Amino acid sequence: MSTKAGGVLFRMGYYFYSNTRLGYYYHKRNIEKAKALFSNGHSITTPHVCNGLQIVPIALIEDNYSYLIVDEESKTAVVVDPSDASVVQAVIETEGVNLKAILTTHKHWDHSGGNSELKSKYPDLLVYGSNVDHVPGLTNNLNDGEKFSVGCLEFTARFTPGHTIGHTVYILDASRYQSPGHVFTGDLLFMAGTGRMFESSAMEMLQSLDKVCELADDTFIWPGHEYAKSNLTFVQHIEPNNDKVKEKLDWVIEQRKERKMTIPSTLKEEKEYNPFLRTHTESILEIVGLKIDDECKDKEAIRAKALQELRSRKDKYCYKL
Ligand code: ZN
Ligand code: FE
Repeated sequence: MSTKAGGVLFRMGYYFYSNTRLGYYYHKRNIEKAKALFSNGHSITTPHVCNGLQIVPIALIEDNYSYLIVDEESKTAVVVDPSDASVVQAVIETEGVNLKAILTTHKHWDHSGGNSELKSKYPDLLVYGSNVDHVPGLTNNLNDGEKFSVGCLEFTARFTPGHTIGHTVYILDASRYQSPGHVFTGDLLFMAGTGRMFESSAMEMLQSLDKVCELADDTFIWPGHEYAKSNLTFVQHIEPNNDKVKEKLDWVIEQRKERKMTIPSTLKEEKEYNPFLRTHTESILEIVGLKIDDECKDKEAIRAKALQELRSRKDKYCYKL
């Protein structure tokens, strides 16, 4: 098949997956396939507990993560990207918490696929997200920088288009738990990687990534997928002399031998080894054959070009787990 025909087919497939009911049936089939593959989820997860705040990662489908965020005193809970309602509901029951809201990062079924089913089980459930993305069951549309609280859990939404046109990340202000912040990045930012730019330009994606980079360095990063091993293997391939990459990859390989989760990382770490957050650095620019010097009039355009180039190299880099 020619590259052009392949591209047309890919775009058609993407359209049907993200805009029609066919995508939902495909998602349901993926859930069943993954359940046959892993009886207890794709990864062994450990809750993050800190002074009355609990974040429970839930391993879903082949490599997705949903997160149950719990205020332990009130038992108020919020769930991020519950793509498989029955698994999420089982965790809610085990934890004995009161689910009040869903936070949806984007419309793709592997993130939003459980919204409607959970809403029918918990009729008062609020569903946060962006109406630009036609999030299923949406009750609360959010704008960039909007703050909202669910019980005493306080969040800020940032509008982060790139992977989809309405992608949104959620920042949990955990200061009342004497903890650094937490950001739930969906398919914008992964450990050592970024999502595909399906619906926006590289410049928009760059601006979205920059919004995350404005957060404090000690912010915990909770991504939408367990992609650390393949991402870091790619980064080591393009940047073999980065010691931070080697160090993290060695650790990830050990974790994955036992199917342990590799999340969370921190923003400080990501800034050290994630090339998609380092498009301003000489070393990354050199890898993609670009340069930003004093005469350069549009530094952002060069960075966007670097981001695009990194993304297309990643797309072409075939890595089998
Ligand atoms: Zn996605
Ligand atoms: Fe995804």
